Amino acid sequence: MKTTTASKSKGSSNGSRANGSSSKNGNGSAKAQSKKSPAKGNSGKSSKDEAQGLRELFVNELKDIYWAEKALTKAIPKMIKNATSDELVDALTEHLEVTEEQVKRVEQVFEQIGEKAQAKKCEAMAGLIKEAQEIMEETEKGVVRDAGIISAAQKVEHYEIASYGTLCAFAKTLGEDEAVELLEETLNEEKEADVTLTQIAESSINMKASEEDEEDEEEEDEEEYESAGTTTSKKK
Ligand code: ZN
Ligand code: FE
Ligand code: FE
Ligand code: FE
Repeated sequence: MKTTTASKSKGSSNGSRANGSSSKNGNGSAKAQSKKSPAKGNSGKSSKDEAQGLRELFVNELKDIYWAEKALTKAIPKMIKNATSDELVDALTEHLEVTEEQVKRVEQVFEQIGEKAQAKKCEAMAGLIKEAQEIMEETEKGVVRDAGIISAAQKVEHYEIASYGTLCAFAKTLGEDEAVELLEETLNEEKEADVTLTQIAESSINMKASEEDEEDEEEEDEEEYESAGTTTSKKK
């Protein structure tokens, strides 16, 4: 980000080096541009501004995930109602409980950093939840819808993993050590949920869903196996 500040001072004290790399990056013009911008504020002030900017970003991101987690406590029950596989129902039910705790944990983070707990609509999570809803409406209840639910749920988990990963990094930079611990705890839970969903998908649902899709073609397949003279156990 503000490495330009550092490189600018380096460049002015070491002109030959800057020229050396100018052929590759066009440093010449970059240097000219940076000179054009008013060289006011000393570095002390700008780093303070940066810290404040990062803190604002952190708090905003926290508000975003707070909204997202709360929205999920309402969305996951709908996914549970639509799921048929016992494994999937169990995994979602468990993650619903975990998510309810995560909402409280975000509140703890707000408290820890001395901010009021406040939610700000997360457009991304709203979109992911909407897509999950669409998938459930567009599929038949059973293994295919289960596969769709897993796909939607994993997108949610990946969004959360990205968010909490970023929040952890910000909190670390800001020296909010207690917040880091809380956020890491949630990050690990999201990763676990993702792994569980992958396992469920791989263990049964996707296989059954593909079998169901192929049911209509089953006769054709049998004929193919016979004419090919290969073992029917080798199915793909
Ligand atoms: Zn979340
Ligand atoms: Fe969560
Ligand atoms: Fe968001
Ligand atoms: Fe989650």
